[in-house]
Amino acid sequence: MRSFAARTAAFSASPIREMVLQSSQMAKRGIDVVLLHQGEPDFPTPPNIIAAAKDALDSGDTKYVPAEGSRELKEAIQEKLRHENGISNVTSSEILVTNGAKLALFVAVQALIDAGDEVLGVVPYFGPYRDVVTCAGGRFVTARLVPSSDRFELDRDQFRASITRRTKAFLVNTPQNPSGTVWARGDLEYVADLAEQHDCYILADEVYEKILFDGRVHHSIASLSPDIRRRTVLVNSFSKTYSMTGWRLGYAMANSALVKAMADLHHASGRCATAFVQKAGIAALTGSQAAIAAMVTEYQARRDIVQQALSATADVQLHSIEGTFYAFPDISQHGVGSAKLAAEILKSAHVAVVPGEFFGDDAHIRISFATSMERLVEGMERIQRFFERGR
Ligand code: PLP
Repeated sequence: MRSFAARTAAFSASPIREMVLQSSQMAKRGIDVVLLHQGEPDFPTPPNIIAAAKDALDSGDTKYVPAEGSRELKEAIQEKLRHENGISNVTSSEILVTNGAKLALFVAVQALIDAGDEVLGVVPYFGPYRDVVTCAGGRFVTARLVPSSDRFELDRDQFRASITRRTKAFLVNTPQNPSGTVWARGDLEYVADLAEQHDCYILADEVYEKILFDGRVHHSIASLSPDIRRRTVLVNSFSKTYSMTGWRLGYAMANSALVKAMADLHHASGRCATAFVQKAGIAALTGSQAAIAAMVTEYQARRDIVQQALSATADVQLHSIEGTFYAFPDISQHGVGSAKLAAEILKSAHVAVVPGEFFGDDAHIRISFATSMERLVEGMERIQRFFERGR
C-alpha cells in the first residue's frame, strides 16, 4: 500500500498518552498509581450547566447550527469579553465557536500559515502547539521563558532576535501550561509592540485565565489597543474553567475576515460545535460563577501543598506557581533526562508525571494537581521519598 501523507509523520508521540497507557496497565496488575499527569480538572461540571444541556436535548437542540456558532452563545461570549477582558464592541462576526480551544487554534493556524512560515512561541510550551504548526507546513520556533529569581520571565532579547522574515505569528499562552506562570503585562506589551513592528499576528491561548492564585490578574493581549486586537486571535475554552473537558467547547475572537476564513475551515471539518453543548455554554457564561471560585480556592490549597513538598525535596528546584494547576520543577540536578526520570518515578514511586521534553524543556517534569487533595498528598510524599532515596 502507498504511504500516508508526510504530515502524519510529523506528529510527536504524546508522553501523556503513554503515561495513561502504562499507568492503566500497572493498575490492572493491582498497583496503586497516583495520577499526577493529566491536565483535566477532577471536579464535576457544575449542575446548572448539566441542567441546561438536558433541557436543550429535551427541547430538540439536536441539529446542525451555523459553523460560526449559535447567535445566543456568541452574544454571551461578546458580553464576557467586554466585562471580563476589557474588549468592547466585539461583533458577532468576530467570534467563532469550536469544538474546544485546540480546534480553534488548529483552524487559526491553518488559516494563517503557509509552508515555511514561522510561528514564534516560548519554551516551555504546550506540546501540541508544535504539531498544529507543523501540520500546516509551518515551523514552530521558540525563544525562552527563563527562571528569574523565583518566577519564569520572557527573555525579551531572545524573543526579538528569533523573529525572521518568515515569522507570521507569535504564540502567547497565559497563564501558561506547563510553567504555571502568568505573563507580566510588560512582557505582553513588549510582544505586542514587536507584532506591530514586524506585522505579525498573535495567537493568544487564554484557557487558564480564571485559574489564578494570590490575587493575580490576567491580561488579555487583545485588550492592549485596537491595532493589537485586529492582529490577535484570542482562544479560550470551557474545558478548564468550567470543568467541561469532555464537552468539547471553545471559541476564538479575531477580526471578521480572519473569522470568515477560520469558519470555512471549521465548516469543512468539524462543521459546528454540538448544538445542545452550546446551550450549556450559555448557562456556563451567564449563570452563577460560585463553583469556579470554589474550584480555584481548592487549586490554590493544592498548589500550596505541592510547593511545600517540592521546596523540601532534594535535587529539585521550584519557582512560584502563579496560575493553572501545574508545577514544573527543575530536576536537572538529578542528572538524568526528563523522560528517563518520569519513567523511574512511575516504576519505583508509582506516580505518573509528564517529562518536560514534551514541553520542549528536558530539565523539568510537569506535576498536575488536578486531583483530590488526598491523592495529591500521597503522590507528593512518594515523589519526596523517591528523590531522597536517589541521593
Ligand atoms: N491550550 C492549553 C494551554 C491547554 O493546556 C489545553 C489542554 O490541556 C488546551 C489548550 C486544550 O483545550 P480544549 O480542551 O478546549 O481543546
